Amino acid sequence: MCGIVGYVGDKKTIPLIIEGLKKLEYRGYDSAGLALIEEGKIKVYKKKGFLKELESTLPSSNSFGLGIGHTRWATHGRPSDENAHPHLDCRGEIAIVHNGIIENYLFLKEDLEKRGHAFKSQTDTEVIVHLIEENYQGRLLEALQKTVKKLKGSFALAVISSREPDKLVVARQDSPLVIGLGASEKLIASDIPALLKHTREVLILENGEMAELKKDEARIYTFEGKEIQKSVFRVNWEAEAAEKGGFEDFMMKEMHEQPQAVRETYRGRVGEDGTVWLDESNLQPEEIQLLERVVLVACGSSSYASLAGALMIEAWAKLPANVEISSEFRYREPLLSKHSLVIAVTQSGETADTLASLRQAKTNGAKVIAVTNVVGSSASREADGVIYTHAGPEICVLATKTLTSQITALAILALYLGQVRGVLSCDETLKIYREIEKIPKKIEQVLSEKEKIKDLAEKFYRYQNFLFLGRGAGLSVALEGALKLKEVSYIHAEGYPAGEMKHGPIALIDENTPVVAVATQGEVYEKVLGNIEEVKARDGIVIAVVNPGDEEVSRVADYLIEVPSTLELLSPLVSVIPLQLFAYYIAKKRGLNVDQPRNLAKSVTVE
Ligand code: GLU
Repeated sequence: MCGIVGYVGDKKTIPLIIEGLKKLEYRGYDSAGLALIEEGKIKVYKKKGFLKELESTLPSSNSFGLGIGHTRWATHGRPSDENAHPHLDCRGEIAIVHNGIIENYLFLKEDLEKRGHAFKSQTDTEVIVHLIEENYQGRLLEALQKTVKKLKGSFALAVISSREPDKLVVARQDSPLVIGLGASEKLIASDIPALLKHTREVLILENGEMAELKKDEARIYTFEGKEIQKSVFRVNWEAEAAEKGGFEDFMMKEMHEQPQAVRETYRGRVGEDGTVWLDESNLQPEEIQLLERVVLVACGSSSYASLAGALMIEAWAKLPANVEISSEFRYREPLLSKHSLVIAVTQSGETADTLASLRQAKTNGAKVIAVTNVVGSSASREADGVIYTHAGPEICVLATKTLTSQITALAILALYLGQVRGVLSCDETLKIYREIEKIPKKIEQVLSEKEKIKDLAEKFYRYQNFLFLGRGAGLSVALEGALKLKEVSYIHAEGYPAGEMKHGPIALIDENTPVVAVATQGEVYEKVLGNIEEVKARDGIVIAVVNPGDEEVSRVADYLIEVPSTLELLSPLVSVIPLQLFAYYIAKKRGLNVDQPRNLAKSVTVE
């Protein structure tokens, strides 16, 4: 997510920070800002929009020595000049920039307000600078040390103070931060590309670490205040590769960001006792109790995430839920009432057909909430409530981490609806939530075995047609697997409910049409097994996605992809990963551009 750059040294600070932020632009952002010390006072410049908007407001006179800059990708509070970072304390003596999410900010904010702190933004970030102000007793490092102990969530922080104009103080928990060691200068950034022009010697901060940087000194401490020695890492990659974090393309990078994206999406939304908080959805408990139906409207991958979500809503909230393709729904006259909930699922929040459906649903009297990755997007503004997915910007045109985040957000929403409707007790909710918390590790495990999928792709990249089959929770995976393959490798692939195969697609089965079957354990396992037998009886080749210890499908399938087990309804979050990788490796083998496949756009703002 977004970017931080900081500097302490003798060079002109403004151009250096702007240049560094430009190197981080690929991470996506909606506003930008910087803070410097000019004539002993902190000066902040910040602006909604791109860096060129900010640049037009910057003074031509130039300060030397100390500064922090930020490109913000809003998570709390819409993109605006006020919400842009840096944020200041009440006295204007401390400035902070932050990447990440502070989960307990509302609680902290209430307390700070009671103690007289006035807030100027709607961000979660601003609480941090007020806490530092309260904790300040002459040393910024110590004030930050006390402050981080009160924060829950993820953060990379950079702080400066006019009282200590020779120091840059930073801390890291679950959001990246690296330190560049120059001769008589120190730099910090969220990612290595922003440092490469100045130095190749870096220290990579780990969770729970902080640093006090002066131009000739870098001291690293734990949050407990213990000083530690870290080894210097020498960067050898070229700048372009560095933007992709060492990965070959954004698609690969973003597939690897899925554990983090899923974690960011569920974190802070379920308490230790199992209570789900989803105030953002703006649904009143009485409204939820009176709901009669749920309709999820979406396009493309979002519609497959919605299919997975609909099953959870039915099972956990006992509400009829169905998925409608936005481009169809918008021209219908749907039978909606004030007891209907319409969920518009859109990564960008700007998908034209989904926005039209959202408006259509409002006109028809339904309550509408948006599930989107972009704060301040049209969908988030027009819906009655919004659930953000917190996946971070996705650069590759293909949806990968936004899909798994959408499924996670819908899972939390399903738990919330179930709890408020009295279907799920807190204990039952907690049981399911504990399984959700295990998903990131399971995704990591699949990613760590990606070479196996690569080998499989080497065997199959010359085929022209594929069939993907699944049932129940596996259906959304089959549909998404087929879509990914089409999008990125231009191979014809059809996703189908496995039980429907005999009503048509079975005519396609021969030795030239590989069939990918999602056959993880669950209610419909035996049924999928039957469908696989049908394929084998017609000389088809079967690649099956199975759980460890599988015996029956393993006997009949030609190739196996093993994924860790989880609750059946959560299984799409794990089973979809190898199919993303499969599509990726096939496209690479065919020499294609995976980040920008032909004819596709990231945000589909036309009908
Ligand atoms: N949560 C913070 C905000 O919304 C920081 C977002 C970011 O990482 O850019 O302002």
